[in-house]
Amino acid sequence: MSCIFCKIVNGEIPSNKVYEDDKIIAIHDLNPQAPVHVLVIPKEHIACADDINESNCEVIGHLFSKIPVIAKELNLDGYRIINNCKEVAGQTVMHLHFHILGGKPLGEKIV
Ligand code: 5GP
Ligand code: ZN
Repeated sequence: MSCIFCKIVNGEIPSNKVYEDDKIIAIHDLNPQAPVHVLVIPKEHIACADDINESNCEVIGHLFSKIPVIAKELNLDGYRIINNCKEVAGQTVMHLHFHILGGKPLGEKIV
């Protein structure tokens, strides 16, 4: 499997971990776009948000239940959650992940 995030999940590629449990990891982004830029990643390989379905969606609820825990760990008061779904929307790593951005006032607009 040539997926970068699968390699990070199984330890083949090192990462700066913020949080880990049996279902998800959160790591600092290699190329941060804000003072705090963390990626929350399900360990299971799901390519993108468009591939979430009834049989694999449990991990998504779990992941979102841990975002406040991760945000607290990072001392974030508020934050933006972003998911890029497929190449046309800017997804460059085809393993589902949610960006958590914060550490400064972000403004109201995303695009
Ligand atoms: P996307 O554009 O797919 O939504 O986001 C992919 C993110 O993964 C980018 O922000 C990029 O900087 C980050 N990224 C790519 N490769 C690595 C890596 O090997 N380690 C870490 N920590 N982040 C990565
Ligand atoms: Zn993967």
